[in-house]
Amino acid sequence: MCALPQPLLNPEIKYTQLFIDNKFVTAKDGTTFSVVNPSNGKELCKVSEAKEADVDVAVEAAKKAFEPKSEWRKMALKQRAHLLNKVADLIERDRAYLATLESMNNGKVYSRVYLGDIQMVIDVFRYFAGWTDKLVGETIPVDEGFFAYTKNEPIGVCGAIIPWNVPLIMLAWKTAPCLAAGNTLVLKPAELTPLTALYIASLIKEAGFPAGVFNVVPGFGNIAGSALSHHMDVGKISFTGSTAVGRLVQKAAADSNFKKVTLEMGGKSPNIIFPDADIDYAVEMAHTAIFSHGGQICCAGARTFVHEDIYDEFVKKSIERAKSRTIGDAMDLKVEQGPQISKAQQDKILRLIEEGTTDGACLRCGGGKMEELGGFYVQPTVITDLKDDMLLAKEEIFGPVQLIFKFKAVSEVIERANKTLYGLAAGVFTNDVNKAMAIANGVCAGTVWVNCYFAMRPSVPFGGYKQSGIGRDLGEHALRSYTEVKSVIMKVSSPES
Ligand code: NAD
Repeated sequence: MCALPQPLLNPEIKYTQLFIDNKFVTAKDGTTFSVVNPSNGKELCKVSEAKEADVDVAVEAAKKAFEPKSEWRKMALKQRAHLLNKVADLIERDRAYLATLESMNNGKVYSRVYLGDIQMVIDVFRYFAGWTDKLVGETIPVDEGFFAYTKNEPIGVCGAIIPWNVPLIMLAWKTAPCLAAGNTLVLKPAELTPLTALYIASLIKEAGFPAGVFNVVPGFGNIAGSALSHHMDVGKISFTGSTAVGRLVQKAAADSNFKKVTLEMGGKSPNIIFPDADIDYAVEMAHTAIFSHGGQICCAGARTFVHEDIYDEFVKKSIERAKSRTIGDAMDLKVEQGPQISKAQQDKILRLIEEGTTDGACLRCGGGKMEELGGFYVQPTVITDLKDDMLLAKEEIFGPVQLIFKFKAVSEVIERANKTLYGLAAGVFTNDVNKAMAIANGVCAGTVWVNCYFAMRPSVPFGGYKQSGIGRDLGEHALRSYTEVKSVIMKVSSPES
């Protein structure tokens, strides 16, 4: 693991405009919106707001960059790989600055961003750089006299719409495979967290990508996001965010040009603890699975299922751990958890805790805000005595709220784990390989972690079953979703002589 430098003090925010055709430009109508530091609730800067007309200009630039004889289309595959690797180099060079900016804008603790998120971003760019000349097609046996093969071609102009919770990681998951496959991209960051996407745009230009290949249109979802997902010249949208908005993106695709759609959406992931697991390790991992980044992770272990034999001990230890969790300014190296992203999220979490504990569920610790800290903080909260049909058990809270359920049997816990509209991830802690396999096979989830949580690699696909998603990010699956498959069937006659 690399050393952790101090975050930068008062870093300059260099880029606050739209990035189109390798230039930073103001929005056509000059509108801006405010960007806030959730650790203290204060404004960081104002950023230009893209509207429909700006999205049109960005898509036009991306379209031009994709023309058949453009520099990008003619570029050697090894050069495309070199540019993606160069972006990774530049992110590595500016790692402390980027980690500071991300932490300041979204409230994830600086040390985790520096050591975790940015490492993932670098690894993702390098992984997909390696793919540019490996996207092989097939040769398919057909009848005598014919020869058939497939090739993967880039789709053209793609759009990416990303959430606020891990902005840099989301940018990398969309941008690296999209560009590795030879497309051009218009990316709309979340309105709450546009700053690191704009800085990455400057690095993409510095790396040497031709104008128009990568564009950023900061703005609001119902305006810029809607314009992008309805755009007739966008061939694919890759979206990560809430299930409600994913539904709108899918509808927009159908109402416009049937653009391809990849959706990564919400979750209510089960994390199942058997009595043969190392209990202290399981307590710590279950704690991490839900409290990391204040619970603002789509695949968080949102429902902790604990076997009845260890339930009381597990609950006691989980409460002790939650009470000892250190909360504060995301830039403070001593804290484990920063603020929630916004006042609206803070209010929503507190409302859910309040409403959710009126029907018999028991609030064991936390449950309030932390006024003394200034920003949008919520105390680490543990709730027990839950039933599967309670509000808390069904709604995505997206906050630091550990829900602990009791179970008896393997088949019972599988059925209950699957009693959700979502299917993003699951965890299981056990030393019995048969139990681990039963859970891995029985749970409807895109990722199952056994004796670990949040383990992710650029090569391993990530996405959801059921209403958690369509398609996959990462790995070869993601790469191929940024391509069209062309089948070529050739009639071949045997030469006379
Ligand atoms: P959100 O759905 O509110 O917003 C996501 C993005 O969609 C933002 O950029 C937003 O501006 C845009 N948007 C909003 N309305 C739109 C519209 N009408 N048309 C087009 N775009 C629109 O989600 P959020 O609050 O930013 O993020 C939290 C959600 O994201 C949670 O539900 C979480 O589970 C999910 N998430 C999922 C994954 C995953 O990989 N499955 C990863 C991270 C977050």
